[in-house]
Amino acid sequence: VTTIRLILGDQLSPGLSSLCDIDKDTDVVLMAEVMAECTYVKHHKKKIAFVLSAMRHFADELEADGVNVDYIKLKDRGNTGTLKGEAERALKRHKADKLIVTRPGEYRLQEDMESWSQDLGIDVEFRDDDRFIATLAEFNDWAQDRKELRMEYFYREMRRKTGFLMTDDGEPEGGKWNYDKDNRKSLPDKIDFPGPSQFTPDDITEEVLDLVEAEFADHFGDARPFSFAVKRHQAEHALKRFIDHALPCFGDYQDAMTNRDPHLFHSILAAYINVGLLDPHAVCAAGEKAYEAGNAPLNAVEGFIRQIIGWREFVRGVYWHEMPDYKTRNILRADRPLPDFFWTGDTRMACMAQAIGQTKQHAYAHHIQRLMVTGNFALLAGLDTDEVNDWYMCVYADAYEWVELPNTHGMALWADGGILGSKPYAASGKYIERMSDHCKGCAYNVKEQATEDACPFNALYWDFIARHEQRFDGNHRMGLVLNSLRKMDGGKLTALRKRAGNLLEDLDSL
Ligand code: FAD
Repeated sequence: VTTIRLILGDQLSPGLSSLCDIDKDTDVVLMAEVMAECTYVKHHKKKIAFVLSAMRHFADELEADGVNVDYIKLKDRGNTGTLKGEAERALKRHKADKLIVTRPGEYRLQEDMESWSQDLGIDVEFRDDDRFIATLAEFNDWAQDRKELRMEYFYREMRRKTGFLMTDDGEPEGGKWNYDKDNRKSLPDKIDFPGPSQFTPDDITEEVLDLVEAEFADHFGDARPFSFAVKRHQAEHALKRFIDHALPCFGDYQDAMTNRDPHLFHSILAAYINVGLLDPHAVCAAGEKAYEAGNAPLNAVEGFIRQIIGWREFVRGVYWHEMPDYKTRNILRADRPLPDFFWTGDTRMACMAQAIGQTKQHAYAHHIQRLMVTGNFALLAGLDTDEVNDWYMCVYADAYEWVELPNTHGMALWADGGILGSKPYAASGKYIERMSDHCKGCAYNVKEQATEDACPFNALYWDFIARHEQRFDGNHRMGLVLNSLRKMDGGKLTALRKRAGNLLEDLDSL
């Protein structure tokens, strides 16, 4: 009897749990490009092109290994447009009565698939996605009975579990768990940026790019020029380039922002890790090896490994621990419509124009741009949480709900009331000035507070703090800022709030 093994677009790993015991003589791997997955949000054109091309190359990789792959292209005749429809057709085509699938990363799909067994009258076997460092059961055990979930403590567990940067005595390398204090340097005037690896599209990718341009013309961004890795060995090449050329400076300039370069010393690997072209454990091991060989300093390597075995694992745990309610929480009652410039990048705020402009172009912005520029603006202006979440899902090549939602809803918007982070990442223009060169050429003046040409982040920041004063009262991490608010001259606060009111009334004019 034939078993169908369904592989999703972000499950492109040869060691996947649903593939591990495949019988190459009888089993069939089903891979399907379906409209529903391409359009449940209007993903960036580059993201769709990347995923479809990587799927097609993965199918070739499996076939070369002797696996029988049934691959359905988006425009194939009879394509029903949904994964369920394609599973049903494939079951009939192959006279199969069993389907094996590795659990999907997104709640909406998991919920949908749970009805398949009954609706299709077959046996559906779900297997855990074991491409993560922690199982969900481990996370839940850790989270159980804790008053607060804090990444830093979970991260230490993951360091112990993996042994990354641990001494033989079970102590953290260098004596400290976290070297973040060393990771806030501003960029020197003269510095060369390594840039990401770039790959020339082959015939498969060119065909996909034509398809994306024809079918998804109204989605955000441009498909071409396209230089992403779409094959495993290309992604491995991108990893090596990062380790050799960017990792040594990753820590120092991790929080820096500049008009001069969209990528700085970041890895630009999230899209590859999230679809399974790179294995997170192997990525960290490559970083650790560079440290051991003396090629990258501890603050860089610890910071990099923490992002992956700490933050990436932690947000996944929180997502599955808290869904489905998580998505509907809106503690700060943020409901203002998203201004148009989030889609056009057409704003006089230089930091926002840079973050959004490069996002349109590359489907990429680095963490501090996502958190402290676009996210911070959305938080301060009280932008509608659903619209903001959709925006983040639409615009990045690495966007998948399990990682996007906790970062946006929790970390950036604090809509979860502190499950993910103990205090909101709210900041005035001063932070952006300190960490970037954006303010120098900006139409707004970051030194001004409430004048017509003052940086909008300044008045919006104090208005946000004043608006939510009651809620933040009692949060010890907000004590300092609430003290400053309370000590502020009444006239000054009135002027700031008046300026904020004017800004909020006409965000589109910024
Ligand atoms: P680097 O800076 O080089 O970091 C190395 C790796 O660590 C990344 O590739 C990623 O796998 C991991 N990582 C770093 N920070 C985080 C984090 N906070 N959460 C989870 N993993 C992390 N990441 C996504 O993968 N998909 C998303 O949809 C996404 N949406 C985000 C939305 C907001 C509002 C914010 C603040 C962050 C979001 N992130 C998301 C996390 C992070 O910003 C990106 O992973 C990172 O910018 C990707 O670029 P990079 O590969 O160059 O990362």
